[in-house]
Amino acid sequence: MVVTSPTTESAPVPEGYGTTPDHIILQPDKTGGLGDIGRYINSEMTTKEVEDTVIALSRGKKYELLTQHLSPPSHYKFPGTYENGCLRSFRYEYFKNRPWLKYSPHLDAAFCVPCALFVSNRSNKQSLVTKPFRKWTRYTSVIVEHAEKSYHRDAMIAAQTFRESIENPSTTLTCVFDKEKEKRIEENRQILKAIARAVLYCGRQCIALQSDPVLEAQLKTGGRVNYLSPQSQNEMIEVIGKHFIQK
Ligand SMILES: [Zn+2]
Repeated sequence: MVVTSPTTESAPVPEGYGTTPDHIILQPDKTGGLGDIGRYINSEMTTKEVEDTVIALSRGKKYELLTQHLSPPSHYKFPGTYENGCLRSFRYEYFKNRPWLKYSPHLDAAFCVPCALFVSNRSNKQSLVTKPFRKWTRYTSVIVEHAEKSYHRDAMIAAQTFRESIENPSTTLTCVFDKEKEKRIEENRQILKAIARAVLYCGRQCIALQSDPVLEAQLKTGGRVNYLSPQSQNEMIEVIGKHFIQK
């Protein structure tokens, strides 16, 4: 493939694309630029090498490959290769209703990017996942049937979850747990205040702290926290005692 300067087209052409195969520009990905999965996975790599490469990709790079992959314009002329004596090439209509299908200009090959990045088990998964796909005569058996694979559906869910974790971090499990923890701390703080007020009241009125069902329920707080431990009681008495002395 010949490396040439970009063509001067009236319609804007995304970086990495020309209007003919000879005008594909072989440039390395730029951080923050458009991605090409074919820069990371190629047919020479073993399954283990692909796995290691994908694991090593940063979250930012995975997100870029998922959401900003190079996308050829409709007038793009895909390179042709001879298969069984016929000139074949990737066709623009393959993209229709397949947002997961991406074309790598670097390799002149297709990938399912969600599967390439998020499939749970790569063994026995070749074309579109661990290997670039470019045997265009097998379009139906590989591309059309790919969407029906259960591992593809799982990878689509994993990819969507990954996107949401970046676009809307407040929905992630860690964040939800943190919010729940904050809520519990605030609840416990309010309960402790109520207990302290009750003890303080008894102290002011010189009423002995006797077993009170309401107070007891608050002290136990549904089993999550127990303020009845000797340490908790001693700390509370000490703090409230100091309060009386200061008064
Ligand atoms: Zn897939």
